[in-house]
Amino acid sequence: MRFIETWIQATVAATRDLTPGIREFLLRPDGAPASRYPVGSHIQVGVTIDGRPATRFYSLVGEAGAEGYRIAVRRAPDSRGGSRYMWSLAPGARLAITLPASLVELDWIRRHFCLIAGGIGITPILGAAQALARRNADVTLHYAVRSRGDAAYLNELQVLLGDRLIVHAADEGRRLDLGAAFATLPQQAMTLFCGPMRMLDAARHAWQAAGRPITDLRYETFGSSGSLPTESFRVRLKQENVELVIPHDRSMLDVLNAAGHEVMSDCRRGECGVCALDVIEVDGEIDHRDVFFSDQQRCDSHKICACVSRARGTITVDTLHRADAT
Ligand SMILES: Cc1cc2nc3c(=O)[nH]c(=O)nc-3n(C[C@H](O)[C@H](O)[C@H](O)COP(=O)(O)OP(=O)(O)OC[C@H]3O[C@@H](n4cnc5c(N)ncnc54)[C@H](O)[C@@H]3O)c2cc1C
Repeated sequence: MRFIETWIQATVAATRDLTPGIREFLLRPDGAPASRYPVGSHIQVGVTIDGRPATRFYSLVGEAGAEGYRIAVRRAPDSRGGSRYMWSLAPGARLAITLPASLVELDWIRRHFCLIAGGIGITPILGAAQALARRNADVTLHYAVRSRGDAAYLNELQVLLGDRLIVHAADEGRRLDLGAAFATLPQQAMTLFCGPMRMLDAARHAWQAAGRPITDLRYETFGSSGSLPTESFRVRLKQENVELVIPHDRSMLDVLNAAGHEVMSDCRRGECGVCALDVIEVDGEIDHRDVFFSDQQRCDSHKICACVSRARGTITVDTLHRADAT
């Protein structure tokens, strides 16, 4: 798997507040119309955090349109600042973005689809709902939110799907029962999911408990805040007398590379496993935030995805980099 990144320049053409915490941005690329893309695609955006360049991924909202790329950004409290930077942008602002890429593929010849969105996870799901409704597929969307006031694109979805949109608003006491949702699906149905990692874990378990092939559950995840607080931790390198501190606002991958330890990486979102390192010893606890390893592998903790996963305490890893190797 290789993620090819082509960076281009774009301008913020318009912004629109969808909810108090979610803002939509229309990005117009320089010089050429927006490329066509399959639903479920995302772009990367160059952001500035504490004066340093960084990138953040954003799903493209809705089907491709000539007017530009539409993204919607949730303002993340307790964050390193990527979404805060996005929210600081006004129409006319200039940005570097990548051309769209996608890892989520729907099997369009199926007849029955279940879409599941948790919160801001609605962004890649909206385009899928539009495309499936246009094809007259049998599609139901379960949309889990804290309250209807937090639900972006609710009106558009109601018009599009009518009673095939089921809103599970926590403040109305309507929590999504994944087991019940999957039990009503025809056996050949495919599910597309986007939501927080804990909800994804629950969906994977419910899907398998319902006796369905795991390949029929497709998903996108936006990264995980993990199960432990995001704090600094220490990494020791096997065979080298080196101990590094990973601060709360940097990844293990970035710190290792900045210190010259050459860890290979690709997706940088815990999906491809290219940056996985051997774990030699754990004095504390590992907080696996990837979607690459199985439950059993996470439990065994013999490896860690350096791009997203973190720890409490000190871990010893083997980067396989040998300074004296020729
Ligand atoms: C494919 C894809 C599509 C996405 N689409 C969207 C979208 O449509 N809309 C949207 O709003 N977001 C989307 N995201 C998430 C987005 O890229 C950003 O992560 C989000 O905007 C938050 O950025 P931030 O810098 O404000 O927060 P971050 O600092 O990235 O914080 C996000 C979470 O990670 C935790 N965290 C903080 N520091 C660290 C650290 N050092 N290492 C690991 N975790 C940490 C925080 O506790 C917080 O809960 C998508 C992500 C991916 C991978």
